[in-house]
Amino acid sequence: MDISDYKQRFDQRIKQKLSKSELEALKVEYLGRKGIIRQLFSTLAGLSSLDKKKVGQQINEFKFYIEQKLSELNSKLVEPTQEFFDPSLPKIKIKKGSLHPITYAVEEISSIFSKISFVRMSYNEVEWEFYSFSALNIPADHPARDDVETFFLDYPEDKKYGHLILSPHTSSGQVREMLRLKQPPVRMINIAKCYRPNWDTTHTPMFHQFEGLCIDKGINITHLKGTIDYFVKQYFGENRQIRLRPYDFRFTEPSFEIDISCAVCSGTGIYNEEKCRVCKSGWLELGGSGMVHPYVLRSGGIDPDIYSGWAFGFGIERVFLMKEGLQVDDLRVFYSGDLRFLSEF
Ligand SMILES: [Zn+2]
Repeated sequence: MDISDYKQRFDQRIKQKLSKSELEALKVEYLGRKGIIRQLFSTLAGLSSLDKKKVGQQINEFKFYIEQKLSELNSKLVEPTQEFFDPSLPKIKIKKGSLHPITYAVEEISSIFSKISFVRMSYNEVEWEFYSFSALNIPADHPARDDVETFFLDYPEDKKYGHLILSPHTSSGQVREMLRLKQPPVRMINIAKCYRPNWDTTHTPMFHQFEGLCIDKGINITHLKGTIDYFVKQYFGENRQIRLRPYDFRFTEPSFEIDISCAVCSGTGIYNEEKCRVCKSGWLELGGSGMVHPYVLRSGGIDPDIYSGWAFGFGIERVFLMKEGLQVDDLRVFYSGDLRFLSEF
């Protein structure tokens, strides 16, 4: 056996410019547990004791040679730094970004409802008229179904499902959730983007809603009130009160508007011996709610003689501003990309 052959081959290898990882690989190839040096030592067993000594020494020298070369090459890889490091200089400030305020609100609302076993869903932004209107007891001639109120997509009409639209509210998720589960209990919190063709100081064409839906045997208004009261106390604070005001929605019966007591005047309507400027009456409007209409339950394949349920739908931008106690002159600031506003949260 001639070690010089091996040495020559090794020298050939290190003539090329090697990267740090290539050097590592070379080290393993020669000096590793299954490396060439080990293999060479294992051939000693078949030699006479005189040869064993001689060849063994050659292998040891070769090993030492490899170690030295590799260490040399390795040290050349790291260029010594010439820069002067001044530890007294102030640190470089890295600008930290943050999530959009509405994203924070979505996360907080989800977490509040997950504590009472509501499943977070996000239903379609592009939706059939059927799920947004027909299945919710909203007749074909209802003004909400006009293209002044809803974005219609340029897509062929379907015989059963009607036109494709941009979902104008999260209520379209109600029937979809009933059909998904096939059977109560239903406990859904549907948080999604909604779209309506409005662009003014109190409306943006894209906004967010969250929709609560609860269906089971024996569900009544007290459950609706209790759940919203729980949400309001968790999200706005323990001392906030709610009240239900009769209203008219197509997909709930009976229907209510939910009001929340004003934080500024503690629900009295009077602040500093004057009429409260935030609420004017002690109460602020939170959003709509009611007991799910039997027609809607049937649309979702649920028997209204056995089951009952409630639903509510609130705007996220609205509850967010109410929580922060912010009076924003123009709601569009949320989506203007103005960092002066967004970095406040
Ligand atoms: Zn007030």
